[in-house]
Amino acid sequence: MKLRFKPYMLKLRHVFTLANSSRSETPVVLIRIDSDGLSGYGEASLPPYLGATQESVMAFLSKVDLNRFSLDDSLTDILDYIAHIESGNTAAKAALDIALHDLYGKSQNQPLWKRWNLSPQETTPTSFTIGIDSAEGIRNKVREAADFKILKVKLGSDSDKMIIETIREISDVPLYVDANQGWSDPHFALDMLHWLAERNVVMAEQPMPVDRLDETAWLTSRSPIPVIADESFQRYDDFAKIKDAFSGVNIKLMKCTGLHEARRIISAAREADLKIMLGCMTETSCAIAAAVQIASLVDYVDLDGHLLITNDAFSGLRLSDGKVLPSDLPGLGVIPVNDIFND
Ligand code: MG
Repeated sequence: MKLRFKPYMLKLRHVFTLANSSRSETPVVLIRIDSDGLSGYGEASLPPYLGATQESVMAFLSKVDLNRFSLDDSLTDILDYIAHIESGNTAAKAALDIALHDLYGKSQNQPLWKRWNLSPQETTPTSFTIGIDSAEGIRNKVREAADFKILKVKLGSDSDKMIIETIREISDVPLYVDANQGWSDPHFALDMLHWLAERNVVMAEQPMPVDRLDETAWLTSRSPIPVIADESFQRYDDFAKIKDAFSGVNIKLMKCTGLHEARRIISAAREADLKIMLGCMTETSCAIAAAVQIASLVDYVDLDGHLLITNDAFSGLRLSDGKVLPSDLPGLGVIPVNDIFND
């Protein structure tokens, strides 16, 4: 197998404002793994708060020797080799996991969802994210999002109630909210969750800071709606730490090193009776298509990352009745728009 990689800069449709930051670009690294005339594609998405950079991802990928493997080796053995090269590097490992799943799916001439006996049509609609903005900006974004059945709203600033009331002037779709750790007082957070639940907010992501686990447990046990761990939950091994403090977990391929571990997390979360959200970073259709393969297994789908950019490097996903659906093509089912690896 031969590995290639290229840095690529995603241009965001709107400046993206969270509780603590704003940005208009997201750096990614796109990868391609070739074997037996087939190419598998993968992607590492690197929003700044995760700490990895294009340079750190490429430095890790330079240490990965796939020449020693062929399609006769098992995918699990290759992933095991990659996992043990160095700790951390979760987005770089996710890129490799995604590209290898694409490659093996193509070698078996089957979309991954079919290989895993899943039914993408049974997936719940994706939420579509509305960033923090002025009232007029929010009205415009909500109008632009008319194709979506669920909106996700970023909270955690002084204008939380204004944002929700502005949306409710023009839309009655269910809302997810994500405070991105923005509420530090649990009593304030509980009052907010009750106020939000009365306005058809059906789920809240990461209301309180990561280091406030006991207060989050207090909040979750009293909350009228499920409280989901995002920043507090990265990988499978985090379960023990957070399972009593939250109603569920937000799985992102870039946090958990890809599809192999994501599927293990889904099984464990079901066993622990936890809700499951499947989220993303701003990503091209490549990494989103990977998550879409398993989206029918989860309760909350938040896979809009490819819809928030203007220079998607892949095609193959479609939006139907508010659901992001994969194609019937083998592997991830995506096709590069330009072959950026040909130079
Ligand atoms: Mg979040």
